[in-house]
Amino acid sequence: MKIISTPIELKEYLKNFNKTIGFVPTMGALHEGHITLIKEARKANELVVVSIFVNPTQFLKGEDLDKYPRKDEADKKICELSGVDILFFPDASSIYSKDEVSILAPNVRGFVLEGFSRPGHFSGVLTVVMKLLNIVNPTKAYFGKKDAQQLNLIALMVKQYFMNVEIVGVDTVRDSDGLALSSRNVYLSTKDRKEALKISSSLQTAAKMILKDVVNVENIIKEMREVLNPLEIFYVEILNLDFEIIKEVELGNTVILVEAKVGDTRLLDNIWL
Ligand code: AMP
Repeated sequence: MKIISTPIELKEYLKNFNKTIGFVPTMGALHEGHITLIKEARKANELVVVSIFVNPTQFLKGEDLDKYPRKDEADKKICELSGVDILFFPDASSIYSKDEVSILAPNVRGFVLEGFSRPGHFSGVLTVVMKLLNIVNPTKAYFGKKDAQQLNLIALMVKQYFMNVEIVGVDTVRDSDGLALSSRNVYLSTKDRKEALKISSSLQTAAKMILKDVVNVENIIKEMREVLNPLEIFYVEILNLDFEIIKEVELGNTVILVEAKVGDTRLLDNIWL
C-alpha cells in the first residue's frame, strides 16, 4: 500500500492510470462499516483509493472537530489488511486555501433533517467531496447509506454538475445488538450505549408495522417517538427516495430516518424499505 499526503502527488501518480478506480472517502477511526465500503470497492475496481481526512469545513463552531477520534496507525493497518492500494492522508493546508470558491448545499434539501440542526454542514461535505473526487477522478465512489442525506446530496451534486463518477450506496453495517456502527460510538458510556439502542429499535418498530400493512406515515412516526422516549430527538421522518415528504409508505421507495442525542453524542440511523 502506498501512502500519499498531497493532492499534487496523488494526481501525478494517477495521471496515466487508465484502469478502474474505486474510491472510499472517510474521516478515519475506521470500523467494519468503512471496511465494508472498501471491500465493495475492491470487488469492482482494479485500484482502490481510500482517503482519511477529518474535514474541518463540515464541523460547525462548537462541534467535536478537535476531539473527533483519530487512530492513524490502526487505520493504516486496517487499510493495508483490507487490500487498499493507495491511502490518501492529506493535511488541511493542502486541501484548503484562504480564499475559497464556495460550493453550497442546495437551499431546501441541504437545510432539512441534519442540515436543519447543523446549517452549513452539508456545504462543507459537498465541498470536500467535490475536491476529493477531482483529485482521485475515480470510476466509482462508495458512500454509506447510514448517512442517507449525505449520500442523496452527493448523488445530486454529481448529477447536477455532470461529473464523471458513479456513486455507489452501501448498506449500513451494525453491531450484533443492532446499533449502527459509527466512529462516534466511542463517545458512548455503557449506559448511553443501551439508550442508543432505542434508535435502531424505533426503526425495527416501523419496519414491523409496515410488514403488518400499516402505511400511514403519521401513525408510524408516533409509535417510533414512543420507542425513542426520553431521548432528545432531532428528527424522525419518513420520506421517499427523492427525500420528499410522503403520507403513505410505498415499499421500494421509502427511507425512514432518525437522529437523536444520546449523552452528548448525535447519532443517526435509517432504513430503506
Ligand atoms: P465517516 O468516516 O464517518 O465520514 O464515514 C465514511 C463513509 O463510511 C461514509 O460514506 C459513511 O456513510 C460510511 N459509513 C459510516 N458508518 C457506516 C456503517 N455503519 N455502515 C456503512 N457505511 C458506513
